[in-house]
Amino acid sequence: MDGIAANLEKVGANIRAACEKVGRDASDVTLIAVSKTFAAADVNEAFLAGQIHFGENRLQEAEGKIPLLPSALQWHYIGQLQRNKVRKVLPLFSMIHSIDSLRLAQYTNELAGEVGLFPRVFLQVNLAAETSKGGFSAEQLTESWDALLSLDRLEIQGLMTVPPMAVDPEKSRSWFARLRELRDQLQGKSGVSLPALSMGMSGDYGVAIEEGATHVRVGSAVFGGREYPAAPTA
Ligand SMILES: *Cc1c(COP(=O)(O)O)cnc(C)c1O
Repeated sequence: MDGIAANLEKVGANIRAACEKVGRDASDVTLIAVSKTFAAADVNEAFLAGQIHFGENRLQEAEGKIPLLPSALQWHYIGQLQRNKVRKVLPLFSMIHSIDSLRLAQYTNELAGEVGLFPRVFLQVNLAAETSKGGFSAEQLTESWDALLSLDRLEIQGLMTVPPMAVDPEKSRSWFARLRELRDQLQGKSGVSLPALSMGMSGDYGVAIEEGATHVRVGSAVFGGREYPAAPTA
C-alpha cells in the first residue's frame, strides 16, 4: 500500500482506538481529509482508498480542484469565510465549518434563501480569544444564540474550534472539553440539538475524539507535510 492509502489506514486505526478508549462508536466520527495545497490527483488517490470527506480553506483553490474530481466527494469549507465568497462557497460545499460571527451567519442565511439552499454549518468559537483567529467568543455565542436560531435557512450542526497551537496534544484537551461544555450549555438552554463538534487536527485528533469530536479535520497526517503554508484567508 502506498503513502496516502497507508496514512488513511493509520489515521482510521487511531480514530477507532480513541473511540474504543472512551466507549464511543467509531461510526460517530467523520474523518475530513484536509487537502489544501495538495493536487486533485492526491485527493483522487485518497478517494480511491475510500475517503469521501475533504476539507479546503480557500475558495479559489477549491474552485480549481472540485470540478476535476468525482461528484461523490463531500467538501467541507474550513477556512475563514469572507462575505464576498459566500455566494460561491454555498453550492460547492456540503458543510461550512467556519461561520464566525452573527453578521456572517445572517448574511449566509440571506444568500441561502436567494439560491434555495439549506446549508449545514458549524459555528466557530475562538475559545482562547486569539487575535490571529476568527470566531465567536463563548459570551458572544451565548448572546447571539436566539438570533442564530431564528435563521431559518441554516442547519446548525454544532460548534467548531481551532485551539491554540501546541506540540503536546494533551494541551488541547481542556479547549476541546470547553467546546463540548459550551455545546451542552447551549443545548440545555434552548432544547435544540447540536450533535456535532468539529475539532482536532493531525496533532491532536485522538484527544479531540476522547473529548467528543464528531468531525476531525486532518491534513498532514493523511497527505504529508505541506510544502508551503496555506494562506490564512480565502
Ligand atoms: C489546515 C487545517 C487543518 C488540518 O491541519 P493539519 O495539522 O495538517 O492536520 C484543520 N483545520 C483547519 C481549520 C485548517 O486550516
